Amino acid sequence: MDKKPHFGMLLVETLAQSLDADFKRETLPDPSRLPEKVDWQRTLPFLLLHGGCLAVFWVGMNSTCILAAFFLYVIRMFAITGFYHRYFSHRTFKTSRVAQFLFAVLGNSSMQRGPLWWAATHRHHHTHSDEEEDKHSPLQQGFIWSHIGWLTSMKNFPTPYNKVSDLSRYPELVFLNRYDKTIPILYGLFMFAIGYVLEKKFPSLGVTPAQFFVWTFFVSTTFLLHGTLFINSLAHLWGKQPYQTSDDSRNNFWLSLITLGEGWHNNHHRYPHATRQGFHWWEVDITYYGLKILSLLGIIWELRPVPYAILKEGSYKNSAV
Ligand SMILES: [Zn+2]
Ligand SMILES: [Zn+2]
Repeated sequence: MDKKPHFGMLLVETLAQSLDADFKRETLPDPSRLPEKVDWQRTLPFLLLHGGCLAVFWVGMNSTCILAAFFLYVIRMFAITGFYHRYFSHRTFKTSRVAQFLFAVLGNSSMQRGPLWWAATHRHHHTHSDEEEDKHSPLQQGFIWSHIGWLTSMKNFPTPYNKVSDLSRYPELVFLNRYDKTIPILYGLFMFAIGYVLEKKFPSLGVTPAQFFVWTFFVSTTFLLHGTLFINSLAHLWGKQPYQTSDDSRNNFWLSLITLGEGWHNNHHRYPHATRQGFHWWEVDITYYGLKILSLLGIIWELRPVPYAILKEGSYKNSAV
């Protein structure tokens, strides 16, 4: 007889899985055999995140909350681009074990899952960019799937630890990756607590704990998520191609602004080993400026440059738009 899982059981497992990303890992089917489809369990965190933004109509606007949300967008985007991407995924510089953990925590608060899952998924993108195997190619599966659909599929949920063996030897990173909702929950509680302190100590600001929480958790994190996801979707569609890469990656100034430099995506696909993605002074790369400051402070070192031959090779003149 075909055994269908009981709804209650499915709910318990979904909750368990949302706390422990490796829950029942050994018994799950091979992810490569799973279909590419939206799984409702995986849409739940995103529905909650987006639905929470609607609470701004209940808590209202406040300039302190909006400024805090913006500030938290910028520093967490820096943790994603500078560390999740340029450090964990591509190892373009070196740092200490303490610094890699602290920036992994900051990146993890963005609700973009753990650093090992993020790096393994991204390495796979570079190996199969815009090919059939690419998990998020707008050319293969359309814009919506490449932007957010792929995140809702169980097929793309497990972390292939064998693809990130250089990172999985750090138990603290594996812990963050496995219990990837811990930091976002703590982040949310911390924001609520800050709102409480502001209300009590600085009543003239007119901030309430719920209002501070809604803006810094729901709104800031949702914008941060879509900003990052635009690199998978729009940065393979919209912009110029100074480099003739085997994929459809593009350079785009506007995407670089909202992602602190990640919009120079065609540069990055041509030479992902460099710390900077804006290869020229006029290709604004705020993450790189931040990383340079960290290197001057001795927090990171051995930033990898762009070879002269690669710089010479690029040309905007004959670029497709
Ligand atoms: Zn790409
Ligand atoms: Zn990359």
